[in-house]
Amino acid sequence: MFDVYLGLGANLNSPKLQLDNAIAALKQLPKCEFVKASHYYASKPMGPQDQPDYINAVAYIKTNLPPEQLLDLTQQIELQHGRVRKAERWGARTLDIDTLLFGDKIINTPRLTVPHYGLSEREFVIFPLLEIAPQLVLPSGVAIKDIAKNLPLNDLQQLPL
Ligand code: ATP
Ligand code: CA
Ligand code: CA
Ligand code: CA
Repeated sequence: MFDVYLGLGANLNSPKLQLDNAIAALKQLPKCEFVKASHYYASKPMGPQDQPDYINAVAYIKTNLPPEQLLDLTQQIELQHGRVRKAERWGARTLDIDTLLFGDKIINTPRLTVPHYGLSEREFVIFPLLEIAPQLVLPSGVAIKDIAKNLPLNDLQQLPL
């Protein structure tokens, strides 16, 4: 099985509840084993600032699914949570699920770039990842704890459980 880390984010319609529901849905995925999720974190939006703050988390699952089949399923979960694809990049959304890492795979297809291209620059990805997988090393050989050392928190706040 592959170790897969998924980035979760929401900033509309009770974002914490969206993440609770997303995690419940991840626990039901076929050919997958849910391992754990990070705390939830409050973060500032990227891009357009005229939107609410985000709640983010990272989930760790193991899977036998091929990457694009897992993407089909995570996109289905997004849609079940009322996500509407809009023209504006990084606009408000009920739920976003990104494939951050898929084992040590490096994937570059029209639908999938893995590791996720924003992984190393996004505090709301790196710090939750560091929480649940402190020893994690990217396929490039870079340790996430070294990325975290140099990454500003940008107001990121771990929320109590
Ligand atoms: P960002 O990718 O910068 O976080 P976003 O999450 O808002 O922005 P989306 O609109 O959710 O972007 O996704 C756009 C497309 O990105 C999806 O249709 C999907 O095919 C593609 N994509 C490429 N790589 C990945 C990945 N690692 N995880 C999820 N989607 C990906
Ligand atoms: Ca988008
Ligand atoms: Ca995203
Ligand atoms: Ca996405």
